[in-house]
Amino acid sequence: MEGRLGKIYVDTAATTPVSDAVLEAMSPYFQLKYGNPSSTHMLGFQAKEAVLQARTTIAKNLRCDPEELYFTSGGTESDCWAIIGSALATTKKHLVVSSIEHPAVLKCCEMLKQFGYRVSYAGTDSNGQISVSDIEKSICSDTFLIAAMMANNETGVIQPVDEISLVAHRFGIPFFSDGVQALGSIPVDLSQTMVDMFSISGHKIHGPKGIGLLYVSKHHPIAPMICGGGQESGFRGGTENVAGIVGLATAIQESINNLDKTSLKEMKALLYKCIQSISCTTINGASAPTLPGIVSACFDYIEGADLVRYLNEYGILASSSSACSTNTDGPSHVLRAMGVPFSRARGALRLSFDEGNSADEIKYICKVLPEVVQRLRYLSPEYVRLYGKQNID
Ligand code: PLP
Repeated sequence: MEGRLGKIYVDTAATTPVSDAVLEAMSPYFQLKYGNPSSTHMLGFQAKEAVLQARTTIAKNLRCDPEELYFTSGGTESDCWAIIGSALATTKKHLVVSSIEHPAVLKCCEMLKQFGYRVSYAGTDSNGQISVSDIEKSICSDTFLIAAMMANNETGVIQPVDEISLVAHRFGIPFFSDGVQALGSIPVDLSQTMVDMFSISGHKIHGPKGIGLLYVSKHHPIAPMICGGGQESGFRGGTENVAGIVGLATAIQESINNLDKTSLKEMKALLYKCIQSISCTTINGASAPTLPGIVSACFDYIEGADLVRYLNEYGILASSSSACSTNTDGPSHVLRAMGVPFSRARGALRLSFDEGNSADEIKYICKVLPEVVQRLRYLSPEYVRLYGKQNID
């Protein structure tokens, strides 16, 4: 059984391949229509028009004004800008963020602390849903921002952003939501969701890497973080990534046209059944609403990193928690925030998939996974002491 490029790729939450339509839309902008949108000649006008059209397409799909969209280098920059740009636009010094945010948000908060800001961290319940009451309790007269992601990148748990935004607005505090994993998996309508800022990344939705955007409501004051030649209405300097912007617009359009996730839900059900049949195993966020294409589980007595390495030998390309946490020490901060014990959190596996995967691939994983888990457990002296060891070939 072989998937993309001869492998079964179940790491779509880390990144996705560029779609054919995206590649085709981008390709003229590398060698043919290579103008700088700021140039006042034919090639420049052409590039400027391409950026304008992309912005209009995206605004139509997300249901916001084109002027509320700012192109960035991706989710990380958008997240950092939302936090830092909001901090720089006010004299207030306190913000509330959830403890399961992406490192782009959490590390920005750490940095702000060095400059005298105070940060309150809202916890989650045991299913990984952010506590709205924690957020509400943390608010004070100095709070300038509340940040809570729309869906978590490790567990896929969909967050109560509507409730959080209601609390934020009741207190007159701007609300930022990281939408990087949510977009393309669940409906996003910025005219209905009361977010003041929303971040998006191209490469999670079959667009190119190195492009993203930050939606900033026209009612929310934000200061620029990257200064330069006046691009993006003076709010984000740097020559526009024209090909990337065109690719992002196509990717967003395609992802919004493709929100029927029936096939993914079926694959997810197969994986749940398989994982639930393995002893000493927990599915993270099993009782919460989760994205159709993410399954996260912890396998006691083994290391997630070993499991990922072993699955790789079988051609199954998965991840232990998130690609962004690979270089950090210790088990996932998301699982720890959910109250998953340290030793259990070390045995985390994330399987993320989309329409590029087939049911046959998932069935192959369901066959291999229990075997691999058992083999690894037999290497654990603690497991063998408790449960014994049977011969396996
Ligand atoms: N936010 C979330 C929830 C993510 O999952 C990611 C990427 O993994 C990012 C932000 C960062 O996006 P990018 O890779 O475009 O910088």
